[in-house]
Amino acid sequence: MTTQTLKDLEQTQDFIRRHIGPDEAQTQAMLNDINAESVDALIDEIVPANIRLADLPAIEESKTEVKALADLKAVASKNVVNTTHIGLGYYGTLTPNVILRNVLENPGWYTAYTPYQPEIAQGRLESLLNYQQMCLDLTGLDLASASLLDEGTAAAEAMALAKRVSKNKKSNLFFVSEEVYPQTIDVVKNRAEFFGFDLVIAPANDVENHDVFGALLQYPAASGEVSDISELIEKVHAKKGIVAVAADIMSLVLLKAPGELGADVVIGSSQRFGVPMGYGGPHAAFFTTSDKYKRSMPGRIIGVSKDTRGNAALRMAMQTREQHIRREKANSNICTAQVLLANMAAFYAVYHGPKGLKVIAERIHRFTDILCLGMATKGVQADHANYFDTLTFTLSNKEEIVSRALAKGVNLRTDVEGKVSVSLDETTTRENVANLFDILLGEGHGLDVAALDQQIIDCDHASIPASLVRESEILTHPVFNSYHSETEMLRYIKKLENKDLALNHSMISLGSCTMKLNATAQMIPVSWPEFANMHPFAPVDQAQGYKHMIDELDKWLVELTGYDAMSMQPNSGAQGEYAGLIAIQKYHESRGDAHRNICLIPSSAHGTNPASAQMVGMKVVVVDCDKSGNVDMSDLKAKAEELRDNLSCIMITYPSTHGVYEETIREICEIIHDNGGQVYLDGANMNAQVGITSPGFIGADVSHLNLHKTFAIPHGGGGPGMGPIGVKKHLAPFLPDHALINVDESTKGNGAVSAAPFGSAGILCISYLYIAMLGKKGVTDSTKYAITNANYLAHKLSQHYPILYTGNNGRVAHECIVDLRPLKEASGITEMDVAKRLMDYGFHAPTMSFPVAGTLMIEPTESEAKPELDRFIEAMTCIRDEIRKVEQGEWTVENNPLHNAPHTLADITDPAWDRAYTVGEAVFPVPAAAANKFWPTVNRIDDVFGDRNLICSCPSVDTYKD
Ligand SMILES: *Cc1c(COP(=O)(O)O)cnc(C)c1O
Repeated sequence: MTTQTLKDLEQTQDFIRRHIGPDEAQTQAMLNDINAESVDALIDEIVPANIRLADLPAIEESKTEVKALADLKAVASKNVVNTTHIGLGYYGTLTPNVILRNVLENPGWYTAYTPYQPEIAQGRLESLLNYQQMCLDLTGLDLASASLLDEGTAAAEAMALAKRVSKNKKSNLFFVSEEVYPQTIDVVKNRAEFFGFDLVIAPANDVENHDVFGALLQYPAASGEVSDISELIEKVHAKKGIVAVAADIMSLVLLKAPGELGADVVIGSSQRFGVPMGYGGPHAAFFTTSDKYKRSMPGRIIGVSKDTRGNAALRMAMQTREQHIRREKANSNICTAQVLLANMAAFYAVYHGPKGLKVIAERIHRFTDILCLGMATKGVQADHANYFDTLTFTLSNKEEIVSRALAKGVNLRTDVEGKVSVSLDETTTRENVANLFDILLGEGHGLDVAALDQQIIDCDHASIPASLVRESEILTHPVFNSYHSETEMLRYIKKLENKDLALNHSMISLGSCTMKLNATAQMIPVSWPEFANMHPFAPVDQAQGYKHMIDELDKWLVELTGYDAMSMQPNSGAQGEYAGLIAIQKYHESRGDAHRNICLIPSSAHGTNPASAQMVGMKVVVVDCDKSGNVDMSDLKAKAEELRDNLSCIMITYPSTHGVYEETIREICEIIHDNGGQVYLDGANMNAQVGITSPGFIGADVSHLNLHKTFAIPHGGGGPGMGPIGVKKHLAPFLPDHALINVDESTKGNGAVSAAPFGSAGILCISYLYIAMLGKKGVTDSTKYAITNANYLAHKLSQHYPILYTGNNGRVAHECIVDLRPLKEASGITEMDVAKRLMDYGFHAPTMSFPVAGTLMIEPTESEAKPELDRFIEAMTCIRDEIRKVEQGEWTVENNPLHNAPHTLADITDPAWDRAYTVGEAVFPVPAAAANKFWPTVNRIDDVFGDRNLICSCPSVDTYKD
């Protein structure tokens, strides 16, 4: 009777059909609508023949979720997770389980996008404001940003800020204390080289002997020593220099704030506030400075403003779209940051509160006292008397100690000759300390932790100088003093989550951002201890599981990009651009072409492109686009030829941000190469390439991949991300390396772009599983269905709105641009009104006004099924009808549901409802919106007010009252 084979039946476990939204019937219906024979025929129509790959990529077949997870578990188990006392900015931490499960492992938090639409993002904006408040309290300054990528890059950003604001204009010299973490020095060195700054790295006290525009100090120092840096800071100030202090966030709970010691900028990592080490990341770096430098601040600041009802409401302030507006004049190229991890750290502070944090910090410090005293009792003095959590010992028997440590499963810091450092953390126990005595002294030392503790109390042992003991209060705001029971905390997290629209509510069709499925199975290994608890500088032989996974992912990405080598180091697309441009510059240099410094960038480019070019000292020359959105070939040719002697490269996005496959892409690569330049292909749109073409095949030399777009890492509400770069063979020798962990023999000694050798290695398992579970066919199908979905949407929407650019045959690539400018002209309704009105329908707006002002860029991805696409089309269609009513005068330009969008519960319960439309029209415009209602929690937010009155800390309690 049965006609199905076992193979047919087994296909029910296939992940491909879970990842790709439309099923067969839905696909057929869409194809009928857009008049295409089949998915493959559609792809043939759209993708230029001269860039099509003949075969599927040479990667494995897809695996089921069960098999892929089991195989990865076996790989993970090759990691040896030692007890780590390495320190250097990465520490063991206890993620409160209520935060682990309800934030890190919760799609309501991890699938949200950067809060560009603040009315439906008040939850994470509040949490980020808490993060900023926490950073302000601990660092003692008055302006904080909502996270940077890591401590190393934050230090580099601090140096760049110092150059912008220092009044010592004639100096080109930046001072770095040699007691700054080695990986930070490495990142700063690389930046300084390309900015053209001179660097001096010397003992901190030496700073007074130099005429500098700025200086970087570490507090406590890398050795662990705590010393009063206020005099050094004064000396730099006397010469009009700016002082940045890299600080340990946990130590600041007990130590005097660097701001109180005179620091102008304080940076550091908030990892040890509950975020697992993850072999280097992702973690949020903090950055605080003084209010007078607000115009020079890198990254995003969350600010308080008000909505149309006059209620307090939060949004990203000022430099939200900095790169897009200021391009190569932007303060930094930071786009994707570390929002999810900043939120975790903020929740950690909320959950523990000031008292809880103090206990944690004091316990760490007490264990360090016990270790120090015990060693001293046995005649081994630490190198310094003042410390928080780290002791350094100068030892004659270092080798013996290190091998004893390894035999006991313990890692110490060993990179400084003749010395060993030991850092303790929140996870340290009495047994750990007893174990450390055994390691450092050999067994039979007779030391007793409890007895040493008593001795410390009896002698009133002081290892923090009185002048550096914190006196100012921290975290006095009610939010840090209210949610200390798990029930209260759970509800606070949920309360915030409810305010935010994420992918677990509806599709987020942000063009260029590729908000596809972040499958649950792909997320699971992120919190496996084998991955989560690895220190990035653990000996490589302990990290074989990571090595295996990274090597395999590397191999797959090489195949999918058509390049020869990858670097996993960059923590975001923008960092990938920076790393790729460095490779280009180093390559030119190696051929005696160091003078090549012109970077051609089409006008449609993402703002990070010119911002990154500026960071490596390139001069940006803009290339025009023609009427159909393509690069203007004659302008390109003319400029490439005219500038040929100094041409470094082009940065081009493919398919372009206009959403079309330019037919001339190969020719563009040739023109650039013929004129001595290199091709940087911005890989943000790889979701339109995987499996059907590739940047390497097209002829480009280097690209970044946004693993948080194409390869399924969730956006985390504005980060984390990963921006590995692929390069052709000739650029491979110029990929980043790392000061402490050699990434590859061939790159030995190269500078670093991130603090950790493999960037945010802890989330690479997501992309790894994405590829493993989809296999060669699945990744290729994803591209094809992304294009199919986009063309279906474009076709349906074109019946109501003009689609700005299409290819030769009227088709689009994986995204399309809806042009609202004509409607604005006719009705006064703006793209902003449409974006806000979509919230009433339960949708997040598409990308607004990029790459063209007055438009929406829509990218549905392959993961959305037809019913969801249809709901979105219905919303856009109804919105068109609403606009028509304004055009026809039925509604005035002020009194209509678009202008007043989004609508809140406050609106509809206001007895003074005086709108020209009903409450029903306002909040339930279509049945689908009513059936799955999403309530924006604030009305439209006033951006201008917020920028004029910049407040980046938690509003005082009084403002909550009125
Ligand atoms: C997203 C994007 C970038 C920047 O990537 P981040 O990971 O946010 O730094 C660069 N170019 C384009 C075209 C993008 O869409």
